[in-house]
Amino acid sequence: MLMEKKLFAKSSDGINSYSVHFIIKEGKLSIFCDCPAGEWGKFCKHKLALLRNEKDMLFNRDQEKELAEVQNWVRQSKYPDMIKKLDIAEREAKKANAELKKVKKTFENAMKSGT
Ligand SMILES: [Zn+2]
Repeated sequence: MLMEKKLFAKSSDGINSYSVHFIIKEGKLSIFCDCPAGEWGKFCKHKLALLRNEKDMLFNRDQEKELAEVQNWVRQSKYPDMIKKLDIAEREAKKANAELKKVKKTFENAMKSGT
């Protein structure tokens, strides 16, 4: 059985919208977005925000009920675990980036003043 929902996500300009398709086929949830990034099956912020149940991403607030229904599908999928992993990886990347900046600053100071 195939079930499908189409939600509209805000584009960054807030004027246009992208359509995000949630498709359940054989118990598996696939997500497609027609934004430039999402079109190639890549990760995009529209898919992620709607996966995260972010109502602010909805272009049309009338779709809140449909988003809630999509959330029922999401809960039965592996996406919640994947989102947790993503959040951890993002925190670690931020930490690593801060450390990198610090090390580069040390370099700059050393190269200016000598070491
Ligand atoms: Zn997108």
